[in-house]
Amino acid sequence: MNRKPFTPQPGTGYWNQGGGTFDCLSVLDDGRAVMRNRASGWTLTAHGVGIYDDGSIDWDYSTDGRFEEKQGQQDAAEIMAVLTAAVDTWGKAAQVDMAIEEMAELQKELLNERRGRNNHIAEEMADVRIMLQQMEIIFQNGGDVERIFREKVARLDQRLHDRKGAAL
Ligand SMILES: [Mg+2]
Repeated sequence: MNRKPFTPQPGTGYWNQGGGTFDCLSVLDDGRAVMRNRASGWTLTAHGVGIYDDGSIDWDYSTDGRFEEKQGQQDAAEIMAVLTAAVDTWGKAAQVDMAIEEMAELQKELLNERRGRNNHIAEEMADVRIMLQQMEIIFQNGGDVERIFREKVARLDQRLHDRKGAAL
């Protein structure tokens, strides 16, 4: 395949020859580009970017590879403290029952929306999110959930790419 030197556009996603979609965050003065893997958050500075006929890209080498710092980590720690206190106070069995109940409430609101009735989808989605976080505390599997979540998003990205070619 033909490869030409290329300057990515900030705000645009590109399929990388090595796999995965990378979003261009910014372009530095000399044409180096800061790229972030959409699924994993892995961010790097790409040197010597090239583009192929199918719109996919690669680069000669990269530097400064790191996971982009997540925003609001302080906030997340505070939320975690409150949810851990909830599990400690009411116990595993009660909170698992509560998770089941909140998921049922969300199901009901989704049906209400489908039937054109008033609904409280946002409220019940928030309740389910709170309970899912408590499940991570109870089952000590937050790391697994995050890893599997990212693997599944990456697989979805791959499937979408296979379906429509390199155009993003
Ligand atoms: Mg509820």
